[in-house]
Amino acid sequence: MAESRDVPPTDRLDERAEHLEQLRESVEAKTLGESQTDETGEINTVDNHPADISDFTYQRELDSTIGQILADEEQQVRKALDAKAEGRYGICEDCGQPIGEARLAARPEATRCIECQRRRETQNPADRDADRPGLERTA
Ligand SMILES: [Zn+2]
Repeated sequence: MAESRDVPPTDRLDERAEHLEQLRESVEAKTLGESQTDETGEINTVDNHPADISDFTYQRELDSTIGQILADEEQQVRKALDAKAEGRYGICEDCGQPIGEARLAARPEATRCIECQRRRETQNPADRDADRPGLERTA
């Protein structure tokens, strides 16, 4: 009997999708809040110390980086949800082999087995997770 086991990865995938949505909303709300402050002129950069300005810029860049990471994550979660809807959740999209249980437990949104993911990252580190079929440019 497997009754006492952890929540299945597909349930955790749904949870993750919800969680990501909440995170993105809070990041967006924060970013919008900042630009509203800009418009009202409450933050007057002329009066601020340079250190404050760079902190502010840094925070902005950080927010946009987080936004980018979240967007990537969301895309990946959506892919896994699609796979689930089509009944091929837990199957590697590259080699068609089952993705390991441990990997799915750690990353319920994984759509590739660890070997294929690694190979992809090694072959194409700058372009990982991109769905374009090989940028073959003749230099
Ligand atoms: Zn694979």
